[in-house]
Amino acid sequence: NEKIANKEKDKPDVSFKDVAGLDEIKEELQETIDFLNNSSKYKKMGARIPKGILFYGPPGTGKTLLAKAVAGETNSVFLYASGSEFVEKYVGVGAKRVRSLFERAKKEAPSIVFIDEIDAIGSKRNLESNNEKDQTLNQLLVEMDGFNTHETVIVIGATNRLDLLDEALLRPGRFDRHIFVGSPNMKARQQILEVHTRNKPLDKSVNILDIARKTHGLSGADLANIANEAAIIAVRKNRSKITIEEFDAAIERVLAGLEIKNPTVL
Ligand code: ATP
Repeated sequence: NEKIANKEKDKPDVSFKDVAGLDEIKEELQETIDFLNNSSKYKKMGARIPKGILFYGPPGTGKTLLAKAVAGETNSVFLYASGSEFVEKYVGVGAKRVRSLFERAKKEAPSIVFIDEIDAIGSKRNLESNNEKDQTLNQLLVEMDGFNTHETVIVIGATNRLDLLDEALLRPGRFDRHIFVGSPNMKARQQILEVHTRNKPLDKSVNILDIARKTHGLSGADLANIANEAAIIAVRKNRSKITIEEFDAAIERVLAGLEIKNPTVL
């Protein structure tokens, strides 16, 4: 039973309606979604679908969310891994983990393997060899080459630094589709704020478009954070609804946090 529960847990309850402002990317992912939903159609036709997709762009812009939504839209299993988890002190450990991740993906297909911070294992190899990292990357390449048309597995990698990645990883048949996920413009910020205030009682003093105007340069993750902070402040103040005051306080708090983390960001 625990196994069943786990399996359910691995099927994210996230869909494209939770992802705001990335319409072109959602459009681009339709083919992948169709493949996951109707893989037999593709197999019969002997069609090979690009199986490796790379999302690149600044942090907090929805790369993980998009990958989860693809799984949610297709009822696929979502297997999350972070590149940094694979890099271990002992040679061979990372490679072994990669192997078992892909074994599981094939067993539980249709599935999505999501590798966040893929640059941690996939950065350019240099003359000074790092055995552990190289073996891990080699194993990933072996796994990606090993796919055939019978496996309904899609691999999505995410990175903030496309330029760091080893070219071997970007070759046809591997991560050959690159999708830039950029910072949201004002319209997208408005849509993201709408998604994140969907289930929150808002006072009529709150104008989402005004908040979108005031939050230039912030990411989707920052905006989600602002909506949540505003709700927390409203609870603390015993309000029945969230007013613009709480939003302003939340914006200030999130901006202050960003300045501490990175003084050059704003
Ligand atoms: P990182 O590069 O730091 O891993 P990321 O691009 O993977 O970041 P996510 O983890 O997908 O970013 O985003 C973090 C959270 O921010 C999401 O869970 C969601 O709540 C919110 N978010 C980001 N982008 C969007 C968006 N386009 N629509 C709705 N929510 C978003």
